Amino acid sequence: MVETKIIHMSGTDIGELEERYVLDAVRNSSGPRCYEYIERFEEAFARYVDTRYAISTSSGTGAIHLALAACGIGPGDEVIIPDLGFIAAASPVVWLGAIPVFCDVERDTWCIDPQSARSRITSRTKAILPVHMYGGMSDMDGVRDVAYEYGLQTVEDACPSVGVFYGNAHAGTLGEVGAFSFQGAKIMITGQGGMLVTSDEEVHRRALKISQHGADQSRKFWYDQIGYKYYMSNIEAALGLAQLERIEEFLAKKREIFGWYHKRLGNVPGIAMNVERPGTHVNYWMTSIVIDNRFGVTRGELTEGLKERSIETRPFFYPMSEFPMFEDADTPVAHSVSRGGINLPSGVFITEEEVDRVSSAVLDILEGNHERT
Ligand SMILES: *Cc1c(COP(=O)(O)O)cnc(C)c1O
Repeated sequence: MVETKIIHMSGTDIGELEERYVLDAVRNSSGPRCYEYIERFEEAFARYVDTRYAISTSSGTGAIHLALAACGIGPGDEVIIPDLGFIAAASPVVWLGAIPVFCDVERDTWCIDPQSARSRITSRTKAILPVHMYGGMSDMDGVRDVAYEYGLQTVEDACPSVGVFYGNAHAGTLGEVGAFSFQGAKIMITGQGGMLVTSDEEVHRRALKISQHGADQSRKFWYDQIGYKYYMSNIEAALGLAQLERIEEFLAKKREIFGWYHKRLGNVPGIAMNVERPGTHVNYWMTSIVIDNRFGVTRGELTEGLKERSIETRPFFYPMSEFPMFEDADTPVAHSVSRGGINLPSGVFITEEEVDRVSSAVLDILEGNHERT
C-alpha cells in the first residue's frame, strides 16, 4: 500500500533572508548592535500598519495584557469580548482583576456583533475588545459607534491579522491600541512573539513603562510602579523583520489557497467560508469552513474522517463562556459557529492538488461516503 502524504495544518517559508538576519543577530547578541533588529522590526512594523508607535513583545498574549494595562483596565472593570475567540483575549482581563463579559458574534464574519456588545454594557464597562477571527475583520464601524456612545476604549485582538484592512486602516489601528502575534502558526512568525501598536502618545508612554517593569524613564533602576517584562529578543526580531519584508508574498499565497478551496467548496449549500465584506481586505490566514446541520455530520466526525485520510485540521475555538472559569453567556451564534467550524490546511507550501484532495475528502464525508480504511 502506498503511504498517503500527510497534509499539515500550517507552515511558513523560512528562506535565505531569514537565515542571514538571524545569523547576524546571533553573532551580535552582545555589543553595540544587540538591540538593532528590535528597533528595525518595530520601525518597519509601525510603518507597515501606519501607526505612530510599535512595541515588540514576547507574545501576542503579552501585547494584549500590556494594551489593557496601558488603557488603565483594573479591578472591577468590565471588558466586552466576543465569546468566540482565543482564551488569550480573556485571561489578561482576569489578571488585571477585571471581568470579561462575553457577547455574541456575527454569523458571517465570526467576529464581534456590535449590537450584542451594546446589550452587555453596564455602568462598569470600560473597554470593548474585538477579535479579528482567523485573519478576518470585525465590523469596526459598529464597534466604534458603541465605543463612542458609551465612552469605551477599544483594544483590538489583531493577533492573526497582519495584512488585514478596514477601508484604508490596518487592523489593530482602529481603536486606542492593537495587539499582534507572530507565534509559529501565524502568517508571519518569530517563533513566539507579538507587537503592540498605538498612535496614542499617552497609551504608548504607559505601555512602554509597564513593559519595562514600571521603570522611571529618567532615573536608572528606579521603579515607581509594578510592571511586567514582555521583551522580544533581538534574534526573534531579526526573524520577524525578514518575514515582514516578505509579507506580500505570504499574503498573495494565502489568497491563492483560499481561491483554490473556494472554487471547490464555496458554492456548496450548507458550507460557509471566510468572508471578505465590501470595504475590507482580509488575509485568509487559515481557510475555514462552517458546516450546518443539514449534513447530519458533526464537526468531530468530519475532523476524524479527515484525519483517517491523513489530513490535519483544527476545530474552531470553543465559546469561552463554556469554560469552567466563566459564567454562561447567551451567545447562540457563537455556539452554532463553533459547533460547525474547522480550519483547513493552509500552510504556504500546500499545492492545488492537495487542496483538491482535502476538498474532495470534505465533500465525500459530508455526503456520507465515509470510506473506512
Ligand atoms: C494567536 C492568537 C492569540 C495569541 O497569540 P500568542 O502570541 O500565542 O500569545 C490571541 N488571539 C488570537 C485571535 C490569536 O489567533
